Amino acid sequence: MTTPLFSLSGRVALVTGGNGGIGRSIALGFKEHGATVVVTGRNPDKNAAMAAELGVGHAVVELDVRDESAVGQAVADIVARFGSLDILVNNAGIARRMAVLEMSTADWTDVLETHLTGSFLCARAGAKAMVIGGRGGKIINIGSMYSLLGPPNLVNYAAAKTGMVGLTRALGVELAVHNIQVNALLPGWHKTDLNRALLDGPLGEEIRHKTPARRLGSPDDLAGAAIFLASPASDFVTATTLVVDGGYSVMDRRWEE
Ligand code: NDP
Repeated sequence: MTTPLFSLSGRVALVTGGNGGIGRSIALGFKEHGATVVVTGRNPDKNAAMAAELGVGHAVVELDVRDESAVGQAVADIVARFGSLDILVNNAGIARRMAVLEMSTADWTDVLETHLTGSFLCARAGAKAMVIGGRGGKIINIGSMYSLLGPPNLVNYAAAKTGMVGLTRALGVELAVHNIQVNALLPGWHKTDLNRALLDGPLGEEIRHKTPARRLGSPDDLAGAAIFLASPASDFVTATTLVVDGGYSVMDRRWEE
């Protein structure tokens, strides 16, 4: 019997920062497609709510992705409890908006460490487990449309998200020999805790008009693309990016010829 193209049955997935927003939608999508899901986050209340939502047979683990030894321990615990780690989504992220002239070194470092160093630590530990497991794997890095653009007041975030593309390409090439595919999703504007205040203001309406799809994204808009990149359907897709932004990064739809 052949495996259905989009099935995640028998696969164990780790989604960092999966206790809310985009990570939550991806985790629930993976569960729906048959995966055993482990979610990580730092906030105990959000973690508890997500554990209730996932239900039995899945797990939520308190983890700061910048903590090297905790990341190693979390991956070891997942393999010990569930038998393997097959899918890793590097989703945990923060944003600190401010003019570069006001940006402290800590505002730079915190963002770089969360996105880039955190993703490196999880990818390294996850890839080791996948290589030892001997049945390949999938790593999905969450970049951003700001991996492609140069937004003002987000020098730290744009640098981190552009770095996620380099990380994706280099990991994809190096791990291909182990049948591990590494790709990045580049979301556009999806209303979550990260940007709710901004999108609920006048800027939200402006962005909606600018977006060719004429709407903002929801976190659920990322789940299908993530399932594709986690499933056998993408077994020959690696070291590349998939933009999910309703066309925002391609054209300003307010412009009519
Ligand atoms: P949320 O704020 O809803 O989710 C961010 C998640 O990251 C939370 O679960 C948070 O958990 C977790 N997190 C933050 N820092 C750490 C850390 N050091 N260790 C572990 N977990 C951490 O935002 P989104 O869902 O929007 O963001 C998810 C990803 O999508 C991010 O990488 C973001 O940059 C990216 N993205 C989002 C876009 C959007 O429009 N929303 C657009 C483009 C990219 P906790 O609160 O428990 O710490």
